[in-house]
Amino acid sequence: MKVLKGISANAGLAKGVAAVYTEEVEENIPHYMVEEEKIEKEINRLKEAYGKTKEAIEQMLKASEEIFGKTGQEIFAAHGTILEDEALFEEIVSLIKKRLINAEHAVNDVFDSYQEKFKQKDFHFSEMTHDIVDVRNRLLSSFNGISGQFECPESERQPVIVISKRLTPSMVLNIAESDVLAFVTEEGGLTSHATILAQNFGVPIIFGVEATENIDCGDKVIVDASMGKVFVNPDKKTEKYYDKKIEEAEKRKQFCVVKEEEPAQTKKGARLILKANISLQAEIKLLDGMSYDGVGLLRSEFLFANRNKGPSEEEWFKVYKSIAEAAKDKSVDIRFLDISGDKMPLYLQLPSGENNDLGIRGARAIDIFYDMYLNQTKAMLRASAYGNVRLLYPMVSDISDIESFREVVKEAKSILDNEGEKYKKDIKEGIMIETPAAAVMAGTLLKHVDFANIGSNDLLEYTLAVSRNSQIIEKRYHILHPSLIRLMEIVVEETRKLKKEVCLCGEIASFEEFYPLFLSLGMNSFSVEASKLSDIKCNLLHLEKPDKSYLDKFYKNLKKNDIEKFFKR
Ligand code: PEP
Ligand code: MG
Repeated sequence: MKVLKGISANAGLAKGVAAVYTEEVEENIPHYMVEEEKIEKEINRLKEAYGKTKEAIEQMLKASEEIFGKTGQEIFAAHGTILEDEALFEEIVSLIKKRLINAEHAVNDVFDSYQEKFKQKDFHFSEMTHDIVDVRNRLLSSFNGISGQFECPESERQPVIVISKRLTPSMVLNIAESDVLAFVTEEGGLTSHATILAQNFGVPIIFGVEATENIDCGDKVIVDASMGKVFVNPDKKTEKYYDKKIEEAEKRKQFCVVKEEEPAQTKKGARLILKANISLQAEIKLLDGMSYDGVGLLRSEFLFANRNKGPSEEEWFKVYKSIAEAAKDKSVDIRFLDISGDKMPLYLQLPSGENNDLGIRGARAIDIFYDMYLNQTKAMLRASAYGNVRLLYPMVSDISDIESFREVVKEAKSILDNEGEKYKKDIKEGIMIETPAAAVMAGTLLKHVDFANIGSNDLLEYTLAVSRNSQIIEKRYHILHPSLIRLMEIVVEETRKLKKEVCLCGEIASFEEFYPLFLSLGMNSFSVEASKLSDIKCNLLHLEKPDKSYLDKFYKNLKKNDIEKFFKR
């Protein structure tokens, strides 16, 4: 079994057979030189391909309008606009003439650089890169007639989990008639045009997965888009676990009518706090029209992660401001950049040989990347003038860690004062409880800050000394290990004494089946992946709050096998 990770663009579960879809045209772009006297002929070939592409886009526009309505029509109209960009056409012509190359080669190079330019822009435009690729591929296929298709034999294809490098609007349209159970892609975007079309299928969509090299036609695949996971050729336990979950989800669909505008509460009406975790700017849109209690964790590491150059203060600020404004007066806990093995933006280079899971993490990274942290802090503070932003310090183990973050905050505030920038002077501060040290010292640490968020993913890793990212030892990463529950109990007790807020924001908060246990240990605030919010809310509505004996039973009944039954999926 392989477990691959990605980002959910549509929540849900699916189990089925993989069908790999390839845009063959990309793999077969001819490159050759053209004699000078044949250049005019080459340009005519280009014009002819343009003509055919125009026709194809017009046909797609019509078909898309029929299947997907106005949105579909608008998307393909936008493709027409890209194709009609005269500057783009002229650039291709001039490249053919200058370098004496064939038209396909020139088309590819010019579209590549065009795409690069869009990638550098803000996120709305960067999400358009797939439209550019789509128009390029359509143009290239007009030269030779090759277009995207399923690699797998027809017999293996109904119903299927579609695996591909990326989703393009054309591809979604091409397979609109197929029986699709889920989409798994390498590249993607939450609000890209293809995603918007694919959401019409109402099936799970997950991108950012190393899909094409790990999944073949005919593989058995389970997609848990809500958890951002794809299981390839799952073992029996995992399959059994998901068969049950899928069955339950189907049942829930029938009885679970949550009014999105209603807050989270249990069956008897006990109000719970339910917030959302966000890693990408666009995720805030998933919360439109929903009742939620804030952003419990805004991870900063994935913003700008694929760039070679770090974001400027202004770039950080724009993202934070837009999320703070969208959340209205609800709290938005922005976490300082927390670098780690699985969260290392390209623009940060650690000194060679440094291990950043046990080395340069949390506050220890401040001295090394001081300017970056200062920019980020100034941006967070400035965003606090537009919403209820709170500062969240990652990987804190003792008071000196809190102090290291505070020094940056102090300097950022003094610069902003000199610059005359507005920010919330009494901005709230919180810590992530992610190390056993922080959990057992919670009472002391919390005296210095306003709130705590339990990062159970790391807390478990450091408690068990088991990597959270290793496929080989995944079995030992028991996500509900009693030691973790015991540490959570300590944190809840201590925060209660101090009358401060504690919220669980690690991955375990997204498992609806663990909520009786969470409630029995006194937790009442949770932050889950934005795409999981509705599911959890619905589940809570059917939950009776258990008494403390539930927790006692949990400890008492836990033998090794029981643990495995619970978590090893
Ligand atoms: C955690 O560790 O549980 C957490 C929420 O932070 P991250 O997963 O980003 O490390
Ligand atoms: Mg963490």
